[in-house]
Amino acid sequence: MKVLVINCGSSSLKYQILDMTNEELLCKGLVERIGMDGSVITHEKTGMDKVKTEVPMKDHKDAIAQVLAAVQNAEYGVVASMDEIGAVGHRVVHAGEKFAESVLITEAVIKALEECIELAPLHNPPNLLGIAACQQLMPTTPMVAVFDTAFHQTMPAESYIYALPYEYYTKYGVRRYGFHGTSHRYVSARAAEMLGKDLKDLKIITCHLGNGSSLAAVKDGKCFDTTMGFTPLEGLAMGTRCGDIDPAIVTFIGEKEGLSYAEVNNVVNKKSGVLGISGVSSDFRDIESAAKEGNERAQLALDVFTHKVKAYIGAYMAEMNGCDAIVFTAGVGENGIGNRAAICEGLENLGIVLDAEKNNVRGKDTVISADESKVKILLIPTNEELMIARDTYEIVNA
Ligand code: ADP
Repeated sequence: MKVLVINCGSSSLKYQILDMTNEELLCKGLVERIGMDGSVITHEKTGMDKVKTEVPMKDHKDAIAQVLAAVQNAEYGVVASMDEIGAVGHRVVHAGEKFAESVLITEAVIKALEECIELAPLHNPPNLLGIAACQQLMPTTPMVAVFDTAFHQTMPAESYIYALPYEYYTKYGVRRYGFHGTSHRYVSARAAEMLGKDLKDLKIITCHLGNGSSLAAVKDGKCFDTTMGFTPLEGLAMGTRCGDIDPAIVTFIGEKEGLSYAEVNNVVNKKSGVLGISGVSSDFRDIESAAKEGNERAQLALDVFTHKVKAYIGAYMAEMNGCDAIVFTAGVGENGIGNRAAICEGLENLGIVLDAEKNNVRGKDTVISADESKVKILLIPTNEELMIARDTYEIVNA
């Protein structure tokens, strides 16, 4: 069966088609500037050059129509007709407490996800638009929703309840949800496979370090804790997000700078993190270059980022009473040789020893710890699309 994977944002959309008989990636692509001037689709059939086509797309239905045209194109398409697409898997950011696993999309599921919009006002609406557009254009094809929050639903209450008046949880659903769940689930399962162990027997700390970053503590194959919270703002210092801060800073800065709640929210989400500290960029490569040239604030931004990852590794080792493996994934985790080295430095007393030579690698499944390291350190490129396609295939076949 061929599965179409859709990851729909407000003005952009990513897609892939995988052949699930062998999990082969047949094509992938990106639609940008949906509903704006200059909308464009970039399609790449595996083994061929990218094809970029500018074509007006006023909404998500137009965008999906262009995706379906591209994947059926005589020259660079991968299916002869739509009938070859057996199912569609949709990435959906927030399922609140409603779903702890991926589900077949029904009217009731859509209603439940609409109820989660207030928890993810920027993400769930475009995700739902993508589902609606696919349903209109492929009315008989089964569709599955795969949620960023689902993997974290196994957390115990002590991990997800905030020390706030309890009614805010019962009335408004204010709790830790966690994000990047599909990535944490994929790399933890892959780590067990690489170590030749049963996931249920392992304690793993998965470090998804990208523009947005989060760690998860995975114990007995289940998420036990994670750094992102009610929103993806909590936890580590990120590209532009502040991560953990004293909440009193929000009202203090609001008063000092004369900013509204919405404006402070914008600052902590878009102008903070390593960008805010360095004043250079949100991109770790730029910050690293600046630091090498002697920019002290750029170095400080890297140090703050590293410090926070280390602190959470320690916290999660304490929470799980040990750790068998640490996994690095996503843009910085997969490519940041220096970032990984800095994070692991000085953790020998916790049994964490990186091998500098093995660590000199980018973007492939490999073990990078020293032989004597009690905790295995792994590099595993994440593959959320494959996970979405697997869930979709399994659910549709069940
Ligand atoms: P997103 O959260 O948007 O999915 P990614 O997982 O793609 O982000 O990660 C993007 C980040 O990865 C960028 O900040 C970029 O600086 C970082 N990155 C990419 N290559 C490298 C590298 N060679 N060294 C350090 N960081 C890198």
